Amino acid sequence: MNDRPSPTTFPAPPAAGSRRARAEIDLDAVRANVRTLRACAPRAELMAVVKADGYGHGAVPCARAAREAGASWLGTATPQEALALRAAGDAGRLMSWLWTPGGPWQEAIEADIDVSASALWALEEIVAAARRSGRTARVQLKADTGLGRGGCQPADWPGLVAAARAAEAEGAVKVTGIWSHFACADEPGHPANAAQLDAFREALTVAERAGLDPEVRHHANSPATLTLPESHFDLVRPGVSVYGLSPSPEVGVAAELGLRPAMTLSASLALVKDVPAGHGVSYGHTYRTAGPTTLGLVPLGYADGVPRHASGTAPVLAAGKWRTVAGRVAMDQFVVDLGGDAASAGDDVVLFGPGDHGEPTAEDWARAAGTISYEIVTRIGARVSRIHTNERANTGG
Ligand SMILES: *Cc1c(COP(=O)(O)O)cnc(C)c1O
Repeated sequence: MNDRPSPTTFPAPPAAGSRRARAEIDLDAVRANVRTLRACAPRAELMAVVKADGYGHGAVPCARAAREAGASWLGTATPQEALALRAAGDAGRLMSWLWTPGGPWQEAIEADIDVSASALWALEEIVAAARRSGRTARVQLKADTGLGRGGCQPADWPGLVAAARAAEAEGAVKVTGIWSHFACADEPGHPANAAQLDAFREALTVAERAGLDPEVRHHANSPATLTLPESHFDLVRPGVSVYGLSPSPEVGVAAELGLRPAMTLSASLALVKDVPAGHGVSYGHTYRTAGPTTLGLVPLGYADGVPRHASGTAPVLAAGKWRTVAGRVAMDQFVVDLGGDAASAGDDVVLFGPGDHGEPTAEDWARAAGTISYEIVTRIGARVSRIHTNERANTGG
């Protein structure tokens, strides 16, 4: 016998809530944002988009909070994301739009998920899956009104709607929705927005003439929900604004739009130490201390979604002041120069949050890293524990 310990003698890693780093998500903020968005589109239903784990905020708790605030629909990109919501107990209307050959159509149909088709091949696979399961599939047809990504081109649209109508007559499908997506709604007044709405109305007319009578017609993402009422139709599909972020500076500042950022990303300093003047900091020595100073080590890096492009530019609230990331962001850590201010290992540093305690926002990080706030929150990695606060709805709101 050797005396190597068996693996079971090692303690289990600590669960969520570890001191290293945490993303706190305020579910009351999610509820308030959904109510704000509903007030922007009072005649439409609201589909809260919870793809990509709720833009990094945790899909299941955010979906539940959005439902509590009146989201009658949820939307995901992949069918796997939608099936995970069903597995977690969500029973409301739920749509998923990013499909590839093979589905899984039948699982989605049997889970009462609205599926989406942009092309005949998809409709054919849906019809086959519906026949196998003996159910009527709920299908939403997607038109390409100008985004040039998903959706059916106008030239192919009459063929797609005719095939869908035939499948309806046979009982294999019900066309529940006709929909599309904007390219430039984050730039209010961009000529593509009006052109896309014209193309959408044309697609709706073609579908009606073919005998389709969809429950919901929808085109609006967050910026269109906030700024373009003529795009609301029967349903709006906001994503980033549900989490309290403005889609773009042109649309406005979150607070002025009545939105509250839900996520606060913070960490505990892993080390604080005094260093002499002229000390290089982090890989490549792109930062050098100007004088004798104190360095704080922040235990978050690009593996946690802190963009390497934020090296030397992004702000952090540490020891009571904004500090700029000193030198390069590494895989697991980066450094801030505390300028001799008092701090110790274990002190809290806040990368971003709603901003009301003087901390930077995800929008500040986006600007510093040359990206959009969507990417800042969505890429926060799996090593960062998500802590959801205000899990229970406040009856007052
Ligand atoms: C992501 C997405 C949305 C939500 O967009 P936001 O700009 O985050 O509001 C809506 N519809 C579709 C098809 C999407 O992919």
